[in-house]
Order: sequence, then C-alpha cells, then structure tokens
Amino acid sequence: MASQRQILVGMVPVGGGAPVAVQTMTKTETANLQATMEQIRTVAEAGADIVRVAVPREQDAEALKTIVAQSPIPIIADIHFNHTLALKAIEAGAHCVRLNPGNIGGPEKVAEVTALAERHGTPLRVGVNSGSLPKHLRDLEYENPVEALVTAAIETVELMERLDFRNFKVSMKSTSVPNTIASNRMLSERIPYPLHLGVTEAGTKWSGSLKSAVGLGTLLADGIGDTIRISLSTFHAEEEVKVAWEILKALKLREKGPVLIACPTCGRLQFDMDSVVAEVEQRLEAYEDPIEVSVLGCAVNGIGEARHADFGITGAKDMGMIYSKGEPLKKVPTGQLVEELFKEIDRYYAAGKTVERDELAAAEARAWLAENEDDTAMTPERIAALEAAAAENDELAGDVLESMLEPAGAVEAGGNGSAVALDEAVSPVAGRRFSRG
Ligand code: SF4
Repeated sequence: MASQRQILVGMVPVGGGAPVAVQTMTKTETANLQATMEQIRTVAEAGADIVRVAVPREQDAEALKTIVAQSPIPIIADIHFNHTLALKAIEAGAHCVRLNPGNIGGPEKVAEVTALAERHGTPLRVGVNSGSLPKHLRDLEYENPVEALVTAAIETVELMERLDFRNFKVSMKSTSVPNTIASNRMLSERIPYPLHLGVTEAGTKWSGSLKSAVGLGTLLADGIGDTIRISLSTFHAEEEVKVAWEILKALKLREKGPVLIACPTCGRLQFDMDSVVAEVEQRLEAYEDPIEVSVLGCAVNGIGEARHADFGITGAKDMGMIYSKGEPLKKVPTGQLVEELFKEIDRYYAAGKTVERDELAAAEARAWLAENEDDTAMTPERIAALEAAAAENDELAGDVLESMLEPAGAVEAGGNGSAVALDEAVSPVAGRRFSRG
C-alpha cells in the first residue's frame, strides 16, 4: 500500500504520493569538506534529490554547518550509537537525521532527539537493520526473519508515536532481496508513514544494481516506497544515482533525460553496433528532455519495434538510415550514423521541437529501406510479436471457454480465487505503470 503521510526533507517531499525521491550517500570522510562537497555536487548533477553523509565524529557534525549551507540538495546526517551527534546534527541544520532507535542508547536518548527535532522541524529517518535487531527478537529472527524485521520496525514506530513525534520515515534494511520485498510489503499495510527502500550491502555495480532492480523494482511497481537508495560497492556515489534513475525510468515512475532503446543484436548484425550504442548513450547524457532514441542493428526488420521512437538509426553494412516516429529521414554511410543522428536531434530542438524533413532525402531512405527490408525474415522482434499474438489468442480462447463453463455470479470480485483489483486512483503511480491484469 502506498504511504499516506508525507514529510519534507528540505524542500523535497517524501511520501503521500510525491514522486519517488532518489538519494545516495557520500563515500568521503565527511569532515573533508572539499572532497565531500565535490561528491555532493557530482551526485546532485547526476540527479540525486537528497544526499546522506556519515557523522561518526565531532568534526563531522561540525562540518555539517558548512555542508548544509553549500549543498545544492538536502542533507541527511547518518548517526549511529551517539545521540549527542544527532542533537548536534539537528543544531547544525541537517535537513533530516537518520538513526536506528535500537542502537542509540535507549528510549530516553531517543526522546531527547525527537524533542529537539520537533523544535527545529527536522524530520527523522528511523529504522531497523537485519544485522542489528533487538535482543528480544533474535529467536524470532531465526524462525521468521521477515516477521522479526517488521516487528522491530513497528516497535520503532510505536516508540515515535509514544513520544508524540510523527515527522519521520521508516526503513527496514536487509541484505536479502526476498526479505526486503516481503517485509516492506507487510509493513506498508500496517503503517501510514513514508518508506525508505534499499537492499543493504547489495554488492558490486553489476550484482548490486541487479539485486536492487529486482527488490526495489518489485516494490515500486506495486506502489510501495517513497525514496530509494541503491547501495553499491563503488567510491563513485553518482553510479548509485544513475542506477536508481534507470529503475524509476524503467517503471515510468519518473522521467529524466532520454530513453535509449537498442536491439540485442543477433546474427543479422552488419555493423559495429556496440560502439555505436555506447557513443549514442554517452552523447545523450547532454540532453535533458525525455526523448526516445532507438538503435537497431539491421534493416531486415524495417523500423520494427522502434516505430514509436522520437529518433532512431538502423544500420546495414555500408549504409544506414535515420528515422523519426517510424518515418525515414535520410540514409547515410554507416560511419556517419551517429553524427547525423545528433544533427537531426539538434535540428529538432532548434526548430522548437519540430522534425524538419527533406522530402527528397526521405524518399531515398524509403527506397533504401524497401530494398533492404526482408519481411519474411524471422527476426527476434517478429518472433516476439508472433509469440505475443499467440498468447493473446490463447487467453481469448481461455476466456471464452471459462465463460462457457462458469455459472453466472459464481466468483465475486475480491472473493476467493479472484484477482484483487488494484486501486489505481489512490496509487502514486496511477495510470503510469503496467497493470497486473
Ligand atoms: S534482427 Fe533485430 S536483433 Fe537482429 S540485428 Fe536486426 S534489429 Fe537487431
């Protein structure tokens, strides 16, 4: 269930239907102001909405004043074990403080922090970590780690409510993807507060990105989660931000910059597509508009699956073609495909987002396409289209059969065995994500 309450981390709303906020954490020694500010600016440029800094020492809390004053995005101070540092972080103007009440020295110390946070209007991120659950939940953790995580999180929420503090979001961190999914699903049904999602210690750029995409993507697709952090073992925090955006873009939860579509290539490929895709991807980073750009490895399938792309190229051995929204624009030698593609994109922006066509060049490209297209070839795209059509036919046949066999009114909506209808109207992703049918 989507969160009902919203908090403000600086000017960034989190929860209550706000766009899912992207956050990351600096990897520098926080008190090293030059290095920390450089990394904050880099992650902000990469698209981080919020950034967290570790505050394990007095000098880090001291540095916060300057960091908060100079940062282009809100700062969360990350505190463990020492509630005095949390108090100092609030006084230094941190836009949010992260602490796990279970390791901060008892409810009295948590109360001191919430009282000061209340006076300053500072939100908290409170949470639990699978690696540091309270002692009384250790047995439960062995039997049912998901129930243990959720119980610890609920106890934390109840403590906050007893202290009459409600300006917080909640996180439950686990290194296990299935446990992350199951616990957040369960918790989202039981509390109204915003949820911070992450798979902790996810791993390297490759494995960590995949684990995060599976774990966080599954939850986000169900409308669960209000801010995400991708944890990767890299010093380059901006990589975490890029992965977070790819997940949000893939689910169409947020838009940021162009979307690149590229075919997987196959034995029909006739040019060096790897380097072309890499160059197109890199050059697209300079654009902010969410245009779709497609790269197809051959013309055998015509424009095929990329018919909807704003711009695209399809290549052959010596010649390739540039097209827009399914219509050829011109054919060009393969070596100039990328250059000419970006000329067309720049021309489009210079003309106020209008595609300017040269009819002669377009006619030439159409003729080239007709010569090169083989509408009998079983390309990966055509096989996928045939499979999809077959599946749809099977489904239709199944529906007809079911309606013939099933007595009228036998299955009530929401009853046993029937699909649970998603309430799209209250979902923060209403109408913008795929339907589970
Ligand atoms: S057939 Fe499809 S996958 Fe193979 S190179 Fe051509 S466009 Fe790419």
